[in-house]
Amino acid sequence: MKNIYDLTIEELEQYFISIDEKKFKAIQLYTWLYDKKIKEFEEITDIKKSIIEKLKNDFVIGNIKKIKVEKDIEVNKYLFSLCDNTLVESVLMRHDYGNSICVSSQVGCNMGCKFCESGRLKKVRDLSSGEIVNQIIEVEEDINEKITHIVIMGIGEPFDNYENITKFIKIINNPKGLSIGSRHITVSTAGIVPKILEFAKFPYQVNLAISLHAPNNEIRNKIMPINKVYPIEMLLDALKIYYNCTKRRITFEYIMLDEINDSVENAKQLVSLLKGLNCYVNLIPYNETNNIDYKRSKKNKILEFYDIIKKNNINVTIRREFGTNISAACGQLRSKREDL
Ligand code: SAH
Repeated sequence: MKNIYDLTIEELEQYFISIDEKKFKAIQLYTWLYDKKIKEFEEITDIKKSIIEKLKNDFVIGNIKKIKVEKDIEVNKYLFSLCDNTLVESVLMRHDYGNSICVSSQVGCNMGCKFCESGRLKKVRDLSSGEIVNQIIEVEEDINEKITHIVIMGIGEPFDNYENITKFIKIINNPKGLSIGSRHITVSTAGIVPKILEFAKFPYQVNLAISLHAPNNEIRNKIMPINKVYPIEMLLDALKIYYNCTKRRITFEYIMLDEINDSVENAKQLVSLLKGLNCYVNLIPYNETNNIDYKRSKKNKILEFYDIIKKNNINVTIRREFGTNISAACGQLRSKREDL
């Protein structure tokens, strides 16, 4: 049966029209779903019984199940089972500016980045928009607090699931629904160029982050197979177009891998690559995993790299670490049951 979280408010209006009801009922229902967070349609008190029966026959309210929660300082990691028993994870991070959640967009991932644990399982399927919405609802319910920020940086490549991701953004942004401001939503991509160009025309002011991780094609080809399809020049050309259309600053993520991409030379290459772009570089100390051989750059290397970028007037930060104790950090999420 269809998950009601899959529907935009316009689709819900169409639904009510199709059953000869007034479309404003969609707004009423959205309030019940996203504000009161009902679990059963019977909890609704201001819509007549016959319509409730109809809704019950046509929809379920949510179809993912929380099967494991691990808690660390400021971080919770959630393992969810989907309706076909596949698994994904989400991570809640408590910041001083609010609660943010990192949601998964696919079961597995086809990008094949060499350093990433989450991508060791090939893509099994895309998540529907409702399954992604559902991750937020479940976490809000668990902590009994609002989620204010969303990063689509969990398992999967969001731009390999473009339709559902953009629909997800519309649903959670709706003021009658979860009402998460578009400026509080960030989509991260490994660099699927045609979708970046499409996203430039997407009429919501969402943040875009690019997993760059290398300052030249030689290194990037080795660690990110997608670079052979969309090399760095092509990526940057697309990002310039994206910037001209949206005027939104772009974030570049750069994981620091020992002896791979962390030399002074690499920092200088990165500077010349990004010069003139309105951007922001987020250096991410690599999170080591048992199954992959890469090592985290030495602390002094990271600081040296940071300094070079900073001195060249490019905005840069070193990402604060979250959740390493419970394998909830970037690139450590799994779609497998092996750690249950
Ligand atoms: N596929 C999208 C969304 C995943 S975002 C993308 O590539 O952007 C997850 C981020 O964590 C990406 O920047 C990814 O490259 C990074 N990452 C993967 N493994 C990591 C690890 N072990 N340590 C730190 N960051 C990692």
